[in-house]
This record gives sequence, structure tokens and C-alpha cells, in this order.
Amino acid sequence: AKHEGRNRWIFYQQGMAEKIIQRRELENELREAIDAEQLRLVYQPRYDVKSSNITAVEALVRWEHPRFGTIMPDQFIPLAEETGLIGRISGWVLLSACRETSENLPGMSVSVNVSASEFQDEGLFKRIKKALDMSGLASSRLEIEVTESLMLIDPVKTLKLMNQIRSLGVKFLIDDFGTGYSSLNYLRDYPFDGIKIDKSFIMSVNDSSLAMQVVQNMIGLGKAYDMEVTAEGVETEEQLEQLKKLECDVIQGYYIGKPMTVKQLQQLKINSEKN
Ligand code: C2E
Ligand code: CA
Ligand code: CA
Ligand code: CA
Repeated sequence: AKHEGRNRWIFYQQGMAEKIIQRRELENELREAIDAEQLRLVYQPRYDVKSSNITAVEALVRWEHPRFGTIMPDQFIPLAEETGLIGRISGWVLLSACRETSENLPGMSVSVNVSASEFQDEGLFKRIKKALDMSGLASSRLEIEVTESLMLIDPVKTLKLMNQIRSLGVKFLIDDFGTGYSSLNYLRDYPFDGIKIDKSFIMSVNDSSLAMQVVQNMIGLGKAYDMEVTAEGVETEEQLEQLKKLECDVIQGYYIGKPMTVKQLQQLKINSEKN
């Protein structure tokens, strides 16, 4: 199967035939998870260096399975992509994220992860438009995160859909920047508003000056294209200080805050404003 290694299916210990049956079961259960209200969102704070404030959050989905407990997205998003369920999940995620942000996170922006497979048709545009209309969230407060794999699919189709979505006022960020195989020309050819440097690069900025140079160059590259630069996976104060020195715009990672509920986020905000 495609998902061996780190992201194994949760039933990895069973035999092949059993696996197929269980996969079918999980697929059916996922189909019903939305209506059964088993999906929920957590939000990871994004810290803006210039204003020293949490100005944005990233919405991350969780599946509260009645028997298995909390299932992480790496364990069911690939299944959702393969079975075509991703559109429905994405519709739910977009609307829920826009609603919660509009109702409970005044002034903050929210970013939502969208799979490259969703760019195959115009359903994505409709889902985004519907989420904005139904939630009343200003479109300038919604950002869409896509990985570099987007650039591997039909560019004409992708660009058309991207521009259609951008005309609503929604922004696009490149997620996991630096891990894809596409040529960097896409920075010139596609209308992105920001890059998020993958955590694998940030991890080593402390103990290696080479890693530091690589990150410095990535930040320079982002700025050359007039994009906002985020560092992902910042876990230590030292990393934060280094990234500030390199004039990184936005910091995200466990050091700022883990993915959390809206309530916890409001609490974190109050505490950070006190300091
Ligand atoms: P991602 O978009 O790269 O999200 C960041 C992941 O890194 C999150 O894992 C987050 O908990 C984790 N992380 C954040 N800060 C740190 C840190 O300082 N250190 C370390 N070690 N990890 C950190 P999570 O929530 O398990 O999400 C995994 C992936 O699942 C996401 O990667 C994203 O690609 C996908 N995903 C999540 N929600 C959705 C969704 O609603 N739709 C789609 N299509 N994909 C989603
Ligand atoms: Ca992301
Ligand atoms: Ca990422
Ligand atoms: Ca990822």
C-alpha cells in the first residue's frame, strides 16, 4: 500500500485480507463521521513577529472515533483522498473553521489545509464560497494551504481555479515548503501569498550553521517574491531567536503553542497580552 512507514493505517498489525475488510469498514465509518459529528477542529497559533502577537491560526482536523479514540489526519486524510470523500470533509472543515474564527477569534486569520486532489474540479470553489457566505467571515481572513504537489497537476486547470478563488479575496500559502520535487519556477508562475518552511529545515537550525544558511536562503527567496514567510515546527526559544534574526515573518510550532481548542486559544491570547 501507499501508506507504509510512518503513516501506517491504524490496523497495521492485521493480515492482508483483514486489512482490506477493515479499510472498507473505516471508509464507511468515515463516510458517516461528518453527520455523526465525529470530526472536530483544533487550532495551532501562528505568531506574527512584527506585532509580537498571535494574529492567525491553522485549523487541523481530528476524528473522534467511537472505538479507536482520536485519529490523527495522517491516518485518514489519505483514505479520504483515495475514496473521494475528501470533498465532503473539506467542505465541513472550511465551514467550521470560518464559523469558529468569525464567532470566537476576532481579528484573526485562519488557514485551512486543502489537498491537491481537490483541484481536479470546481467543487472547491463552491465550498470556499459557501463557507465564506454562511459564516460571514471576511475573505481576507481566510488562507488556503497547499503543498508543492499541487504544481505536479495540470497547470492550466490549477491556475484557473486558483485565480477564481483568489478573486474572492482568499490567500494561498505553500505548505511544507522545500520538501516537494517541483521546480522553483512555480514561485514565479503561480500566485502565492506566502510560504511555510517545512519543520524538517527548522529542526536543525540550532546545531548546524549549514541548516541556518539554508533557512536564511529560503527566507530570502520568499521575500524576493514578496511573500510572507512562516517557519513551521519551532520548538525552542533558541530557534525563535535565530528566526527573528533572519527576519522570518511568522512563527508556528510547539514553542508558541500546540494545536488546541478555541477556548484554550483564547486563554493563551489573554496570557500573551498580559506579558
Ligand atoms: P501540516 O499542514 O504540515 O500541519 C502541521 C503538523 O505538524 C500538525 O500535525 C501539527 O500538529 C504538527 N506540528 C506543529 N508544530 C509542531 C512542532 O513544533 N513540532 C512538531 N514535531 N510537530 C509540529 P497534524 O495535526 O497531525 O497534521 C498532520 C497533517 O495532516 C497536516 O500537516 C496536514 O497536511 C494534514 N491535515 C490536517 N488537517 C487537514 C485538513 O483539514 N484537510 C487536509 N486535506 N489535510 C489536513
Ligand atoms: Ca498545513
Ligand atoms: Ca506543514
Ligand atoms: Ca504536511
